[in-house]
Amino acid sequence: MATKECSATEACIDLVDRYSAHNYLPLPVVIARAEGVWVWDVEDKQYLDMLSAYSALNQGHRHPKIMAALHDQAARLTLTSRAFHNDQFGPLCKNLCDLAHMESTLVMNTGAEAVETAVKAARKWGYTVKGVPRDRAEIIVCDNNFHGRTTTIVGFSSEEQYRSGFGPFAPGFRLIPYNNIDALEKAITAETVAFLVEPIQGEAGIIVPDDGYLRAAADICERHNVLLALDEIQTGLGRTGKMFCCEYDGISPDILILGKALGGGVIPISAILASREVMDVFTPGDHGSTFGGNPLACAVAIAALDVIIGEKLPEKAAQLGAYFVSELEGMDSPHIKEIRGRGLLIGAYVKESSGTARTFCEKLMEEGILAKETHGQVIRFAPPLIATKEDIDWALERIVKLLT
Ligand SMILES: *Cc1c(COP(=O)(O)O)cnc(C)c1O
Repeated sequence: MATKECSATEACIDLVDRYSAHNYLPLPVVIARAEGVWVWDVEDKQYLDMLSAYSALNQGHRHPKIMAALHDQAARLTLTSRAFHNDQFGPLCKNLCDLAHMESTLVMNTGAEAVETAVKAARKWGYTVKGVPRDRAEIIVCDNNFHGRTTTIVGFSSEEQYRSGFGPFAPGFRLIPYNNIDALEKAITAETVAFLVEPIQGEAGIIVPDDGYLRAAADICERHNVLLALDEIQTGLGRTGKMFCCEYDGISPDILILGKALGGGVIPISAILASREVMDVFTPGDHGSTFGGNPLACAVAIAALDVIIGEKLPEKAAQLGAYFVSELEGMDSPHIKEIRGRGLLIGAYVKESSGTARTFCEKLMEEGILAKETHGQVIRFAPPLIATKEDIDWALERIVKLLT
């Protein structure tokens, strides 16, 4: 039940306007319950969720197996801190390593924390293994990157709004153009410890690099003894039609960064995975988090991974995504310049002459579809991976109607 103060859309939004920071500009819908791919607002209007909380809901809302794990674990043990062991943490670490074919993992809570953890691991590896002089380590990152919102991370963003007013920033990062192998090779120096990159730039507007870009980047990194750190927080765990997007290039990174769907749409949990050589730069006391590796999140994550594997969500994303894209490409729209993406991470680029993507998202909302614009001109379509062909057809009918 919605609380009394919050049973009507406008009253709810007024509370947020009045009492919350204004750091988001949400669509004017107040969601009160959800199941699978569907959500209902406080007025009981039904919508198809085509954002999936920026891909944190790959398994859909309130997946029964994930909810069962949550309830079970909540009835037994929720938090120990890492001062003691708990019986869920080890099994999750093993499952994660098996899934990613990596030797070790370090579990945190949010995506940004996992990226910070990767930065720390890469720098310390640089000093203790590669032999970079103290405090000289440099990490190469890409224009239009999105890796989170901490001060270190926004410090190496190329997006003025993410940075403006939040400096001074940490040194040690160098920006290069995305999808440009020559730029990577040229930027590497003896002090470079890592190249941090997204396999597809989601927040930048679903920018898919050329086939082979990651393969070439991995080769260059290996040749120069530089760690390849892949941020798969959004692209990983099935979203793009493979378990990890880097599988398209047949590579495995030195550091893999996961978050979002690892928590099954229920609880924040993130992780980095790496070789022993890299991970063992951390010794007791070097790094930590009170809630990192808590048994409630670990139990949920074990179930979240089981669902992705058991229900073959990567294969589903590949099939449905291909169908979705071909239908979108087949429509004769005066408003859309380009459809791009992989699996069920799809962007429709709205022509500048047709207005902003936001306007289209507002109209889609009226039609019962919740999608969100990214970078002004791109409508992102990223439904839960448990969606059926019927769900996609239901959405397509409305999307095509609006766009043609
Ligand atoms: C969402 C996201 C992050 C940040 O994750 P939070 O949990 O919001 O801190 C980092 N990198 C990518 C690619 C993301 O999509």
